Amino acid sequence: MKTRMNDPKIQRDTKPNTRLTALWSAACVLAIGAMAWSTPASARKLYVISSNPTYSSIAKRVGGNLIRVTYITKGDQDPHFVRPKPSFAVQLSKADAFVVTGLDLELWAPRLTDKSMNRSIRQGQNGYIAVYSGMKLMEIPTSRSRASGGVHMFGNPHVYTGPMNAKIIAKNIAIGLCKVSPANCAAFKKGYRRFKYQINRRMFGKKLIKLLGAGTLTRLTVAGKLIPFLQKRKYRGKPMVDMLGGWAKKALPLWGQKLVTYHKNWIYFTKTFGLNVIQEVEPKPAIPPSPQSIRRLINTMSRQKIKVILAANFYDESKVRKVCKRVGAQSVIVAFSVHGKRGINSYFQLTNHWISNLLAAYRRAGAFK
Ligand SMILES: [Zn+2]
Repeated sequence: MKTRMNDPKIQRDTKPNTRLTALWSAACVLAIGAMAWSTPASARKLYVISSNPTYSSIAKRVGGNLIRVTYITKGDQDPHFVRPKPSFAVQLSKADAFVVTGLDLELWAPRLTDKSMNRSIRQGQNGYIAVYSGMKLMEIPTSRSRASGGVHMFGNPHVYTGPMNAKIIAKNIAIGLCKVSPANCAAFKKGYRRFKYQINRRMFGKKLIKLLGAGTLTRLTVAGKLIPFLQKRKYRGKPMVDMLGGWAKKALPLWGQKLVTYHKNWIYFTKTFGLNVIQEVEPKPAIPPSPQSIRRLINTMSRQKIKVILAANFYDESKVRKVCKRVGAQSVIVAFSVHGKRGINSYFQLTNHWISNLLAAYRRAGAFK
């Protein structure tokens, strides 16, 4: 059973059971022991822990052989809800850096860092790396109330679904690692630049980058205007959109397609590739659908002829398939993170996985005829 750390009942519980207290005490002793034996950061591999495997995979691209990485949430787990196992605190006690989103995706994180007794990875310290810094956040609520579901209070925290954000994640990781180990900063910056180059090439293709520059293409993508911009312009008599390469070219048939998603966790992806999210299966983020909300969803999907539901593989697949069956739509159940499924071992594979599965579903639904 999952522990919902944002559940007020759990947060108010100040009397943990005796066994858990004993485990935490053991964790603290181990933590203090680990700190006593620590050596200077530049003289050994940095130990970097991320809240999820996607951040770890990007961190490895930045830090290469200078770091070893691990993560708390598994790739096929809901990143919002994590059972705060004492072993996580023990791991964090030895960490040189802790990579998190920095919004309210990981409400469980502060409790774990407190328990780890590792001051250097607490918020505001050098070893605390918040990847959202410098991003254009979407869906920032006008009032900060948990009445609207309560897990996206500072804006949509599922930032890594947008490939342009992945570059910012890598940059923030490089900046953080530089603070922890200044002696290796040049290598971290190099790792970041290499990753950024690879994302740009995979996103736009070489030709268009040469013509317009990655900076312009990135700004257009973040604004959700890449394809309309390219469709209106010509180069040497040919439409610029014909020069597209990479994911943007592959995903071109998805532009303008209507979509239902299970949770509000795809907004950066859908804005990048021009998909039009009409509704979610959850009535509010992290609130399970009720029979009434499912009925409303079925009505909307039938009325608007929506042919695809996209869901991460840790949600209730049976509900998705049931709705799809009722309205004759296709379900797309995918890994939401690196290591969320066998064969998804990098950020590049993850983005490919999302695009390929969506294309196949719209094709099955007859959307490209
Ligand atoms: Zn969420």
